[in-house]
Amino acid sequence: MSAEFPDFRLGTVLATSFTATLTERRGSPVERIPTPQRLVDWLAVSDLTVESCTPAQLDLARELRESIHAAATATANHDAPPVSAVRVLNDRSIAGRAAAILTSDGDRQWQLGSASVEDALSVIAADAISIVSGERDGKLALCASPTCRAAFFDTSQSRTRKWCDMNTCGNRQKKARFTAKQRSAG
Ligand SMILES: [Zn+2]
Repeated sequence: MSAEFPDFRLGTVLATSFTATLTERRGSPVERIPTPQRLVDWLAVSDLTVESCTPAQLDLARELRESIHAAATATANHDAPPVSAVRVLNDRSIAGRAAAILTSDGDRQWQLGSASVEDALSVIAADAISIVSGERDGKLALCASPTCRAAFFDTSQSRTRKWCDMNTCGNRQKKARFTAKQRSAG
């Protein structure tokens, strides 16, 4: 891992972990996959190891990422996903080859057909389709942080999660509220 690049924000849902490679979208955006190698690194830590990545493949990945973000945001707002985003999700889903493998521990793993970026993106696109379509147990929501507004997949029992990430957006919001309280008290 290269220390000079922003670290990854990994969640438990593949598709929204992927959209979190661009954070603070409504503030000062932080690009967490600024180079093809960083996409290779991100895919490796997400159990989608690929052999290499070209600048053109990084562009494909970012196009998919923004399409997932657009589709997930629309769904969270109870709107239909934009036609262009649907097209990209479907194109990427179709363009790669991957098979679900059951490990001896009973876990599901993905085996990429040719260890290409396209194969990995097809897994991410399929994951996004499963949450946007409502097929999975959970609810798409938007982060309450005004500089973030990331779409995340809420699987909490009450479906009342407010932040995309407790350790970043959630914590910042809590600190801001605490500071404001201190100020009004003093
Ligand atoms: Zn957030």
